[in-house]
Amino acid sequence: MAIDTVWAEILGQLSTKVSRPNYNTWLKSTELLEDRAGQAVIGVGSLYAKNWLEHHLLKDIKQLLRAHYPDLQEIRFVIKEAAPATTDLPLLQNQPEPAVDEAQAKEPDTPMPFNPKYSFDNFIVGNNNRLAFAAAEVVADKPGEVYNPLFIYGGVGLGKTHLMQAVGNEIWRRHPKKKIIYTSCETFTNEFIQALQTKTINDFKKKYRSVDVFLVDDIQFISNKEGTQEEFFHTFNMLHQANHQIIITSDRVPREIPDLEERLTSRFGWGMIADIQTPNFETRVAILKAKADQIKLTVDQDILEYIATNITSNVRELEGSLTRLAAAAKNNPGPIDINFTSQALKDLVHSSPAKLTSKKVIQVVAQHFDLPITDLIGPKRVKELVYPRQLTMYLLREVVRLPQAQIGEALGGRDHTTVMHGVSKISKQLKSDPATEADLHAIEQLLYGS
Ligand code: ADP
Ligand code: MG
Repeated sequence: MAIDTVWAEILGQLSTKVSRPNYNTWLKSTELLEDRAGQAVIGVGSLYAKNWLEHHLLKDIKQLLRAHYPDLQEIRFVIKEAAPATTDLPLLQNQPEPAVDEAQAKEPDTPMPFNPKYSFDNFIVGNNNRLAFAAAEVVADKPGEVYNPLFIYGGVGLGKTHLMQAVGNEIWRRHPKKKIIYTSCETFTNEFIQALQTKTINDFKKKYRSVDVFLVDDIQFISNKEGTQEEFFHTFNMLHQANHQIIITSDRVPREIPDLEERLTSRFGWGMIADIQTPNFETRVAILKAKADQIKLTVDQDILEYIATNITSNVRELEGSLTRLAAAAKNNPGPIDINFTSQALKDLVHSSPAKLTSKKVIQVVAQHFDLPITDLIGPKRVKELVYPRQLTMYLLREVVRLPQAQIGEALGGRDHTTVMHGVSKISKQLKSDPATEADLHAIEQLLYGS
């Protein structure tokens, strides 16, 4: 069997072991380059793909390869020069496409109600969104049957709308006749008010109570709106009783939505409540990698890691940073190195931390070390306070970008040489002492986490 046929077969087998997004990100563009003298060489797209595969699939790959090459001893991953186009590999034929409901011919001009770019395929799965992703896939597969409603919550720019519309896209594709409505809570509210004004409330009720799949984005805006809550309650009941799927997103859990009627709070918990958290470093890198591939921007691993280190708040900002970088690169023939990147992204990199006030930093450091704020910024001269104060100085300098004089002021009137000394001490320690790095990391989590 030819070497690429072998690999296509193995990829087909591996595709059943990992999620589709992981498959697309890490496996799809790999190649078996050679198999000689007991050693197999696999070409991968990036250092990160190499690490991921070594970590997650080494054993499986070895086992599958051995079925073809019994004397295989070792597997080596090498990074290919440029990843080949990932769309037309033979393997795609091996992936069973979910069946389209044949009996349901597509009506000629039903407009697609969703943004086609929001699909499961390009949604990167990490620990931060695994549950929500899995639940969404189940719902797309069996609308109305398993989790009803599916309630997805999480901070801004973390993929709630993407995931919700991915379900819509998938159901729309497979069941063209199903009536699916995607609406934001605000649109729902506005339409409701307008229907009252124009005495078309019956049409309004008919429209929403007859859908097969109802997607409502950002439900938190229903807070306080009694009439809309009442109407939504009845819509919900009708749909739920008929086993029609409801998906709701929100920036917080139901019980934290202020002025939400109890009967709605409880109904929102009837199916599945799944959260999306901020992605960790590895997931941020994976997202950047996938997005860079999508926009055909060739960037080294260390650049992706640089961005992932500096842009931590949400996925929308990660995307924004790549778009910015791509635009800057267009006008610049030189290499995309760290210097170039930091220059291109300089206001983005500092935009989120800039919003951090020194007060917040001080409060979070105090919280981390379990110290009263008054001790941290007070005059007390005890050993235990030196390190937390220096870390505070470091954060105020490197993250908030305060001038030294202001840092001294924020810390209860310390002079600028003390500040300078503190900042450089921590910078040095960060290179050699994992404990300092861990403290910094934990504090950053507190700063950006919520
Ligand atoms: P939210 O509705 O939670 O505010 P969005 O769904 O609008 O966030 O996501 C913001 C942007 O980030 C979108 O362009 C979306 O495609 C992208 N995005 C978010 N999460 C992911 C992910 N896990 N993988 C790929 N893209 C993502
Ligand atoms: Mg949204």
